[in-house]
Amino acid sequence: MDYGRCRILIDWPDWDYGIHNDKAQIERQGKAMNYPFSFEINKENNTAHFSSTSELPYYETSLTSCNCGDFEKRKLPCKHIYRLAVELGIIEIINRKPGGYNEDVLAEIYASDDMDNHPEQLKRIKSAQSAKTTPSSIDREKRTGIFPGSGKKPYETTLQSCTCRDFIVRGLPCKHIYRLKIELGLLDIKRLAKELPNNNPEFAFDEVTTELEKLTEKNQQTIQIFLYKVLYHKEPYLSIIINNETAELLTCPLLRTETQDMPEYALRIFGRNQLIDILDEHGISGFKRNSSQKNLILWCIENVPDIWTVFPKVTLLCFSDSFQKARRKTYSYLLRIYDWDSYCNQK
Ligand SMILES: [Zn+2]
Ligand SMILES: [Zn+2]
Repeated sequence: MDYGRCRILIDWPDWDYGIHNDKAQIERQGKAMNYPFSFEINKENNTAHFSSTSELPYYETSLTSCNCGDFEKRKLPCKHIYRLAVELGIIEIINRKPGGYNEDVLAEIYASDDMDNHPEQLKRIKSAQSAKTTPSSIDREKRTGIFPGSGKKPYETTLQSCTCRDFIVRGLPCKHIYRLKIELGLLDIKRLAKELPNNNPEFAFDEVTTELEKLTEKNQQTIQIFLYKVLYHKEPYLSIIINNETAELLTCPLLRTETQDMPEYALRIFGRNQLIDILDEHGISGFKRNSSQKNLILWCIENVPDIWTVFPKVTLLCFSDSFQKARRKTYSYLLRIYDWDSYCNQK
């Protein structure tokens, strides 16, 4: 029988099975498998030690209790208890999470009665207003629009659908649909803009860690590297190419997408040789083959007319305005987790 993400393998009478269906419990079941803790299981008395990030050196966990803050507060199975149950062969955590966008966030937006005011949708409304999202054409009668795409094929947009990846993955209004609405005078931006600042309280540190834990390890490490660059090298942007792995960064509230097109930053993701290869592939010539990466980028900006039809689309992310104060603490937190992990892996 499955409850939440728990598949019960052998009877676990300590807890009422129904509680595992709870949304907050499902989140803990996921963390039980993804959280970068280390542990030691004692199979004789069904207990475990888990590494901790608090002042306690270890958490002491049994099938019915744990001394972590989460358990002490809620008295419901924490991620440690679930993991112990997995290691003892009592349950198995089954996978329900689709690739890419976070299903909890999506469910929250679907359920909202003011969808357009959800921070995730507001991000898209903001992008919709940028010059980059200018439609190639609008058919006012049919209420449809054509928008330049990241590849050769343009996006075809109606008020209910769009052929862009964001819409296909999320099934929720993308920036093109919003722009179409704006062009047709169907979206009251002023109402939304007023509410925008109130949606931006500063993230507390434990909210930051909760958000981080929703990400894959690799994306958490990407954020660690970006924090390092922002804090110590004043680099404003994280440039990524969206794929199955990185797509979830787009919905991470710690980050926001830069809507201005800034190829001078974006193209830095490509090394000198990669830039030359891509230009060669497109039969573009006239640049000096021994130029530095920096000069090649400048050359491309000046001489390549439609840059994003030549280069794979790079997305620029920066930290959200609500994630300012907790950055240093977050950086040391990630450093502790991952450098400690790589230290253990070496041994
Ligand atoms: Zn615990
Ligand atoms: Zn779209």
